[in-house]
Amino acid sequence: MSNIQMTQQEYIDREDQFGAHNYHPLPVVLDKGEGIFVWDTDGKKYYDFLSAYSAVNQGHCHPKIIKALTDQASKLTLTSRAFYSSVLGEFEEYITKYFGYDKVLPMNTGAEADETAIKLCRKWGYTKKGIAENEAKIIVCDGNFHGRTITIISMSTDPDSYKGFGPYTPGFEVVPYNDIAALEQALSDPTVAGFLVEPIQGEAGVYVPEDGYLKKAYDLCKANNVLFIADEVQTGIARTGKMLACDYEDVRPDVLILGKAVSGGVFPVSAVLADDDIMLCIKPGEHGSTYGGNPLGCKVAIAALQVIKDENLEENSTRLGEIFRTELSSIDSEMIELVRGKGLLNAVVIKPKKGKTAWDVCVAMKENGLIAKPTHGNIIRFAPPLVITEEELRAALQIIKDTFAQFE
Ligand code: PLP
Repeated sequence: MSNIQMTQQEYIDREDQFGAHNYHPLPVVLDKGEGIFVWDTDGKKYYDFLSAYSAVNQGHCHPKIIKALTDQASKLTLTSRAFYSSVLGEFEEYITKYFGYDKVLPMNTGAEADETAIKLCRKWGYTKKGIAENEAKIIVCDGNFHGRTITIISMSTDPDSYKGFGPYTPGFEVVPYNDIAALEQALSDPTVAGFLVEPIQGEAGVYVPEDGYLKKAYDLCKANNVLFIADEVQTGIARTGKMLACDYEDVRPDVLILGKAVSGGVFPVSAVLADDDIMLCIKPGEHGSTYGGNPLGCKVAIAALQVIKDENLEENSTRLGEIFRTELSSIDSEMIELVRGKGLLNAVVIKPKKGKTAWDVCVAMKENGLIAKPTHGNIIRFAPPLVITEEELRAALQIIKDTFAQFE
């Protein structure tokens, strides 16, 4: 069917018929985006409070990022890594200086970057730490989310992620999140090569660990000659109010994993950053990706990272995040159990009322002109593009307040 005069239900039915059922989207069909807003196929406008799971930090279709895309698209899009390109080195120099690392390994998706970090960590464990072949262990946290590959779900503690997909990749040990004593115990095993952690657990429902957790964890890793690996795919690129969430505790990860907003939601680009003594453990032919480091993605990522600095999005995220949490906490609703977050990565834990759940609240917010998505049933994450202004944020807050009032 062509798209002429289709109803939203017809779009939804077509996806249902021809697409795998691996998602359960909110019933809204988006057709256009600009800045913090998206429009559905009927022309109705919404505040986007998901930002494609924090990929669109710079706002939809940012003109500078789109210009970088279109300029490069008509010149050279893909070379593969069989050859050098005139753009890859420019990106590598730009991103390594931006984050202060010796080297970068470019990939495409967040999951691929996590896989890359795992391989890098194991290789370092064998070649530098001297762990016996095939014995290396990586410590991960309860409630983690690092993506959807078989290896990554092998360390997941969420049955929706792992159940029915075994057998699993060995070599991971789970410790409770935000529990330094448990981590200390686990790290004492000499076969441990790395500790992989999200500085704030995004998918789990924006779990913010106690102040000092990351620094203590980092220090313990150093004391045990273990790599501290931060998955900042969701928390990075100013989402939580600093360029990296680890910056809050002055922790510089040994291995830094980035994705999503590295390219402002325009083209899949992810990256693993590390210094030479770690990164050079991987030799030619041992890892790669056909599209990883392609000229199009490189130019898009440079533009997207530059926008974060040019538009002071760290500062905006910090300042507006505080207003957002204060205002949300002041809403008088029996359904709001807890408000938490940092910068513009926030969540509300919902207490169902008379059978009405977080899903119902999200559907009602959509009717009122704001889209957000529940995670883990009872948690609503609020993560608008970081280019939102205070006036826009307050207008969005009014929609959220009015929606909760409907359920009283
Ligand atoms: N790591 C974290 C912390 C994430 O939040 C996500 C996605 O939500 C991923 C990795 C996976 O990224 P992708 O969906 O691009 O594979």
